[in-house]
Amino acid sequence: MQAHHAGPGPSHRWERLAPGVVRRRLPQWDATVGAVGGTEGVLLIDTGSTLAEGAGIRSELRELFGRAVTHVALTHPHFDHVLGTAAFSGVQVYGAVGAAEVLEHSRDTLRADAVTHGVAPDAAAEAVDVLVRPRHPVSGEITLSLGGGRRATLANVGPGHTGHDLAVLVPGGAEDPAGPAPDVVFCGDLVEESGEPQAGPDAHTARWPDALDRLLALGGEDALYVPGHGAVVDADFLRAQRDTLARRFTLS
Ligand SMILES: [Zn+2]
Repeated sequence: MQAHHAGPGPSHRWERLAPGVVRRRLPQWDATVGAVGGTEGVLLIDTGSTLAEGAGIRSELRELFGRAVTHVALTHPHFDHVLGTAAFSGVQVYGAVGAAEVLEHSRDTLRADAVTHGVAPDAAAEAVDVLVRPRHPVSGEITLSLGGGRRATLANVGPGHTGHDLAVLVPGGAEDPAGPAPDVVFCGDLVEESGEPQAGPDAHTARWPDALDRLLALGGEDALYVPGHGAVVDADFLRAQRDTLARRFTLS
């Protein structure tokens, strides 16, 4: 990718986490989208809340990486993370096993959720009309090679925030001239920094703390953990959030 520089344009909005690894906090709901670029492909993690938002992400990443998005990983089937997927044509779409069926059967819920949260009704209806379901179900883990040694492991770490939570581990490498790069874990909404984790009717609250233990096992002590909403956090934050969730859902 091009060097990070200040000023208008995509590099202003995308936060560089490690070589070839960026994320953006989208407006309105502060949902995170992440991207990992190799010499042959670009993986996008989540796609925004409308087709227009997805299209903006597509063109910004093309400018940042100089190539098109080739793979999409959906962290969970909520409107603010999946409704931009149809803006990407010809990509391979991954989700936790069962997420495709949930998306197919919850079109009305997705549209209603989006509108309730402030998406324009026309934009929500359009995105749901062309909803893309993941064709590659992930149970356990799979690793994608993006070229130039850049890899990403998609891990089914749920259930927790939903019945179908997928995390993405991007291993750091020693190839960065500035020093060893950190591992980066995109956590989806299993982790939130900007507020209390949101537990809706599709949450599996009793099993959520275990999902955070699986995230910690995935990334280890030194990884950068990227929440679905909010600032990047560390392993200590995950442990504290796990304990808080365990107390909250035991008492409720
Ligand atoms: Zn969510």
